[in-house]
Amino acid sequence: MGSLRGSSSIFNVDSPQQDINVPPHVVQSLHYLSLAFRPREDDKIDFRRSFTPQFISSRGNEYFCEIDEEYLTDRFNLTGLNTEVQYYQYALDLITDVFDLDADDELREQIEKSARHLYGLVHARYIVTTRGLAKMLDKYKKGDFGKCPRVLCDQHPLLPMGQSDLANQKTVKLYCAKCEDIYNPKSSRHASIDGAYFGTSFHNILFQVYPALVPEKSIRRYEPRIYGFKVHACAALARWQDAQREEMKARLHAVNMDPGFIEDSEDENDEFDDDDEVDDKLEPAKGTLAAGGTNSARMDVGI
Ligand SMILES: [Zn+2]
Repeated sequence: MGSLRGSSSIFNVDSPQQDINVPPHVVQSLHYLSLAFRPREDDKIDFRRSFTPQFISSRGNEYFCEIDEEYLTDRFNLTGLNTEVQYYQYALDLITDVFDLDADDELREQIEKSARHLYGLVHARYIVTTRGLAKMLDKYKKGDFGKCPRVLCDQHPLLPMGQSDLANQKTVKLYCAKCEDIYNPKSSRHASIDGAYFGTSFHNILFQVYPALVPEKSIRRYEPRIYGFKVHACAALARWQDAQREEMKARLHAVNMDPGFIEDSEDENDEFDDDDEVDDKLEPAKGTLAAGGTNSARMDVGI
């Protein structure tokens, strides 16, 4: 009986009879691979139904918004795309729901692939229009693109972005406006989307059009410590950076420019509860730049 139970799960690492010890990251990779290669029958487009709702609702396409029909049917918006996409006219007919061709399965598959690609390329153009930006903003507010994995960003929502405007160069990445860094999507389905379907400018245009959404710059950062004492080189660098920031803020204040750091609080998005604490911590750092940091070591419980 015991041996039966032992063989029922090869990933049960707690089992004393277990010979195969699979590290968690390998299990995760296998999981992603199985997702990427499994038959995606449920995601196939039904040619008799409307293309866009099916495309938007299929798994892995959560980053896309629905392109307005008027936008899709205005040829001006599609200028130049006919050379980028195979079976362009059929693909466009499929997207605009006027597809009427008695094609075999293989050709249908090709046309469907082309339609997905065409939708992505038009999507990159659409999301920088007023309507497109508003739609993507809704998704951003709902956190449809995920949250920043950086602990100190407090789950700030992410935006999809491309590192190239040309197709088939780089996959989509996620941008966090709080730490101003980019991340790989967590899911393999998202990680395989072409970055050109979002483009290199969309995320920056969004903040130009909606400046109130620009989050306050975070000055919190992780401090490496050993048994509560700051690691010397990192602490010295952090103090130097803090001093530089203070200097820059003073310069910006002198010319009446808003440095955008946390003190100038606007009630947008995430707020830190411990703003004051952060400020207190930074005060002594200014004076200790040359002192080597002997007075900055503090014992923190639980680190
Ligand atoms: Zn972040």
